[in-house]
Amino acid sequence: MTRDMPVALVTGANQGIGLQIAKELAQHGFTVLVGSRDLERGEAAARSVGGDARALQLDVTDQASIRAAAGRIQSELGRLDVLVNNAAISHARGSRTPLAEIAKSARPSVASLDEVRSVFETNVFGVIAVTRAMLPLLLLSPAGRIVNVSSGAGSLTANSNPAHPHRAMFGATYSPSKTALNAITLAFAIELEATNIKVNAACPGFTATALNDFEGTQTVEQAAREPVRLALLAENGPTGTFSSASGPIPW
Ligand code: NAP
Repeated sequence: MTRDMPVALVTGANQGIGLQIAKELAQHGFTVLVGSRDLERGEAAARSVGGDARALQLDVTDQASIRAAAGRIQSELGRLDVLVNNAAISHARGSRTPLAEIAKSARPSVASLDEVRSVFETNVFGVIAVTRAMLPLLLLSPAGRIVNVSSGAGSLTANSNPAHPHRAMFGATYSPSKTALNAITLAFAIELEATNIKVNAACPGFTATALNDFEGTQTVEQAAREPVRLALLAENGPTGTFSSASGPIPW
């Protein structure tokens, strides 16, 4: 089967930055798979995306869900051109939590190991599992692009600088999960160097979403800019980088 429209999958695209990335990729002519762990919310989101957007049930912590999603893309679309690993959690409480409380409970002396495991399960292991499942489909693309939505919060270089204004937020849960995600980004980039696939990490910036109880200061439109740029990289574009809309971020 030959398709003219490129195909993109955005995980956790039922709301927030992922939904905005899905909208912009649809505007760029992609068939967009709107990943959502709740299918009904994914369907509502897909209706708001416009273009050729299709809801895809995908819980990045559930191997059966990942397998089924890859199977559906294979049979329905035959390949994948862009994978945006966007789904993440900032804590494991399952309800809206003020940022100060998230930071307090993330301190390494008190953070619950169960919470550390849950956050890593979604933000790190989920990305490895989804990327691995989608890799055979991405290898069928003439120009596969993987964008991992990371965060400057995971930068060891920035946070080890005593002058860094946000270092008090560097706890044992969300921030190191993004440090690990950056490492995984680099590992995939190195392994896939000889292929058509480029793998990069993007920080969207501090954005008003459910992740931070809407305390962020940017809009989702501003946040989507760098992930979308990396999703659309030309053949001579880089792989194995970490950046925001303002430029490279130290690892
Ligand atoms: P958000 O509105 O909370 O969106 C997170 C999305 O991930 C939701 O759709 C959520 O689904 C989904 N998700 C969570 N666990 C999942 C799982 N197991 N399987 C599938 N989907 C799952 O937050 P956001 O700010 O847009 O976050 C998007 C990305 O930007 C994340 O990677 C985040 O770390 C990154 N980021 C955000 C900021 C910021 O300031 N907002 C800054 C830096 C980086 P449900 O609706 O079902 O919970």
